[in-house]
Parts: sequence; C-alpha cells; structure tokens
Amino acid sequence: MVTKSIEEIRKRLVKAGKELYERGLVRGTSGNISAKIPGEEAFLIKPSGVRLSFIKPEELVLVDFQGNKVRGKMSVSLETPLHATVYRERDDVQAVVHTHAPIATAFGIAKTEILPLQVELFMLLPNGIPIIPFESPGSEALAMTVQKKIRDYDAIILENHGVLTVGSTIEMACNLNEMIEEAAKIQFLAMTISGKDLLDFAKLKEKFKTMNTVK
Ligand SMILES: [Zn+2]
Repeated sequence: MVTKSIEEIRKRLVKAGKELYERGLVRGTSGNISAKIPGEEAFLIKPSGVRLSFIKPEELVLVDFQGNKVRGKMSVSLETPLHATVYRERDDVQAVVHTHAPIATAFGIAKTEILPLQVELFMLLPNGIPIIPFESPGSEALAMTVQKKIRDYDAIILENHGVLTVGSTIEMACNLNEMIEEAAKIQFLAMTISGKDLLDFAKLKEKFKTMNTVK
C-alpha cells in the first residue's frame, strides 16, 4: 500500500514539474519540488542539476526530515535543507514548491511586497506574502530564515531569489506558486495603469472584510 502511494507521488511530482516548466515558473535546472510520504518522516525531492521538465519518476530522491538521502542514485537538490525545515516545522504541509517565477522574483528584488489585491487570492493569502532577507541558496541560514516565517505563511518571497509555496497537496502548492506569479503580474499592471498607491494593506483588508478566508 505504501509502495503504491510512493509510486503515485512520484508520478504526480513529475507531472507538476512539467507544468511548472510549461507555465514559465522555472527555467533551466532552476526550481525544486518535493512531497511528503504519508505516515513517514521522509519526502521525495527533485535531484540536483536536472530540469524539472525532464525529470523521471525513478530519479526523485527519498530524503529524511534531517535532509539526509535515504534512497536514490542521484544527488539531492541544493535546496533540500529548506524543504526539510518546512516539513519539520509544519505537520500540515504535504508538498513544497520553490520556483524563480520571474515577475514575483522581480518584486522580491525591488523589495516591494506582492499584495493579494485580487479578491480570490486574498481569500487564500489574507495575510499577504512576506519577503524574507537574502541568504545564500542551499544554506542553513536560508532554511532558518524560512523556518521563522513558514509558521505563519503558506507563501514566501525569497529576496533576490524566488518564490516558496507550501500546500496540503502537490497540486495546491503548485497552484499557489502560479497564483502568486499571476498576482505579481496584476499588481504590476495595476500600478502601471493607475499610478496610484495601491499598497495600503489595511485599506485592502477593510475592503475585503466580508470575504471568507482560509486562515
Ligand atoms: Zn532557487
């Protein structure tokens, strides 16, 4: 039963990787995804140096919650400590998606927060999407910085780096990553069109106060 479920997770991760690539959220060998194995303190993660669009199910590497390889021929993704930290910190998270989605990443470089200006995104992320200070990719320092924020947020922008999202399924974590890129695009267009200051989060919360949010 467990074996079957691991095989299913492998297939879903491969499909998700292809979709992230097709939608332009990752390019080259950038980005990584992982998913927890139900009932185990272990997760499957993309191997290092492979394009997400070309990944094969058997290439995904099984890793424990300390980030140590348990099974797999290839090297683990550079960002394995980051993924392991999220799973240790959040019992409810089943999948972690990290991309360099270009518009959202540009907001992080510009140190401008992406706000859930569009109402459906607000319902998913009513507390917004914080930017965390730059730390080197793959470092313990990055993992520790993420650890503090991921307790309260399902999506984080990594300054000068990219986007991190989590979810209760692989598909939900991917969907959130895609929605953040869409939100960044909408915010960029709205700011360009209006020239007004749209970034008053308190006013936005007041406007959307009757909405049902997930948190
Ligand atoms: Zn990255």
